[in-house]
Amino acid sequence: MRRYIHNIYHQVLVFLHLSPLSLAEKCRITFGAAVVLILALALSIPYIWMGQLTKKASLDASRAKADVLFNQHFQLTKTGEIIPGTSNSAGIAADANDPEIRWICFTKQGEKQLRRLTNSQREMIEFLKNEKTRDDNILLEKRDGFLQSNYIKIFRATETYQPIVAVVIQRPAGGISQTVFMNRVWIIAAGLIAGAGAIVAFYMITQRVILRPIRQLRALANNVAEGNLDIRSSIKTRDEYEKLANAFNRMLDELQAAQEKLRAANKQLDDKIAELSERNIELFKANKVKGEFLANISHEFRTPLNAILGFAQVLREKPNVLKEQKGRRYAENIISSGKNLLNMINDLLELAKTEAGKMKLHIEKTSVSQLCKGLAASFSLLTKKKKIKVKLLTRDDIPILSTDAGKVQQILYNFMSNAVKFTPQRGRIEIRAIMPNEKTVRIAVSDTGCGITKPDREKIFEKFRQADGSITRQSTGSGLGLAISKELAAMLAGSIGFESQLDKGSTFWLDIPVTLTKEVQNVKPKAKNAKP
Ligand code: ADP
Repeated sequence: MRRYIHNIYHQVLVFLHLSPLSLAEKCRITFGAAVVLILALALSIPYIWMGQLTKKASLDASRAKADVLFNQHFQLTKTGEIIPGTSNSAGIAADANDPEIRWICFTKQGEKQLRRLTNSQREMIEFLKNEKTRDDNILLEKRDGFLQSNYIKIFRATETYQPIVAVVIQRPAGGISQTVFMNRVWIIAAGLIAGAGAIVAFYMITQRVILRPIRQLRALANNVAEGNLDIRSSIKTRDEYEKLANAFNRMLDELQAAQEKLRAANKQLDDKIAELSERNIELFKANKVKGEFLANISHEFRTPLNAILGFAQVLREKPNVLKEQKGRRYAENIISSGKNLLNMINDLLELAKTEAGKMKLHIEKTSVSQLCKGLAASFSLLTKKKKIKVKLLTRDDIPILSTDAGKVQQILYNFMSNAVKFTPQRGRIEIRAIMPNEKTVRIAVSDTGCGITKPDREKIFEKFRQADGSITRQSTGSGLGLAISKELAAMLAGSIGFESQLDKGSTFWLDIPVTLTKEVQNVKPKAKNAKP
């Protein structure tokens, strides 16, 4: 039903090309209609009652007059019958001259008087004669353009209840209708004043109590829709509106918090995307490096393998050569090429082990000067061959290290082998040990070799990477030495650094804690490029 009314309302609006009513308009229309209806209903009672009252007053006055006149002209017998009084004939005759009063006796002579009456008066007399429950009535009728009231009363014998006589009192009714009219005018005026007052009062109430907070809330909602989430409602009406405003404020707080969270999540997502793209680039580079490595490693493997195969073929075809010095040199070449190949494979295995975390630490006491001396000694043949001068500079106050000496040796061995490899004939190599602070020892290997170009400095620690990435490079090696050294240094809670000047030389150093404990082991510094 409600939906049906709603539909009709909308169709009417569409038909009249009107926009839907606002809340204020709805309030005014419905309240106005309610006020009019209630006032009309309430005032209709006095409106009707006042008419009745005036009619009753006139009826009472006429009734009293009729009774007085009756008593003047008639007498009641002891048995209760009416007999004409002494002054009857004279009185009735006197009344006959009064145009207001008409006596009608229900006798033969009375019929003459009856004929003088108007039709409606006669009809009313007939009606009252037959009606046992009432004796009189008032009848309003227009005569010669004027309203006239006709009071008609029937007098009956007390016992037999027979109608004896009737009286008709006629009077102009202008006064009565004017009073009724004035009463009604005042009632309508009172209604209009009350209605106007109620409407004005309601207008003020709706404006202040209902519409003002709603308008404030609407302005707030519009502000929020424009993106201003900092705004809050300040409605303090201590009623449902205040509760609504508080709920609205809470909603805005939560919205703001959710937005903050979303912003933070977005930022995290952005960071993750940036990190991922960096990883992607790294992966791409690693893939490229792997490709280069495969090319290099196959070249590296091919060189000793070709040598082994070549010399072995010569020995198979000319086994007698073995007895000569040339033959022994061939055999030496086969052995050294085999060793090279084995070293390379070992390097690869070691790197795989380190990366998989399978390498174990063997912590022992070791002297730095002994380490450095051993390093120089193991390369003495090669350095002598290239006429390279090796200088040892170790300070006496360096304490005994408590670390994995084998891994330290391995790192320094790699530094030294590179230094020897890249230093030309008659060059110089310096092995130095210092203490940058009381807990750290630095062992550095400097050379007067070819140095490393700036772009290559960033790549040399990458796995399988060599400064000269070309397959036709001169120096041997897999490009794994520094990558392995870096991993090993991290295991020792240390780091690797270097500096290099092109065509002047390079210095590689290892920083490690004097005492390697589990706590320091967890802090793994990265390789850096700085002055020793
Ligand atoms: P490799 O086994 O090929 O020497 P490394 O990882 O030990 O591999 O070294 C990587 C690259 O770093 C070398 O190929 C070389 O180009 C450069 N490099 C390392 N040490 C030196 C050095 N002392 N002088 C010049 N270049 C060096």
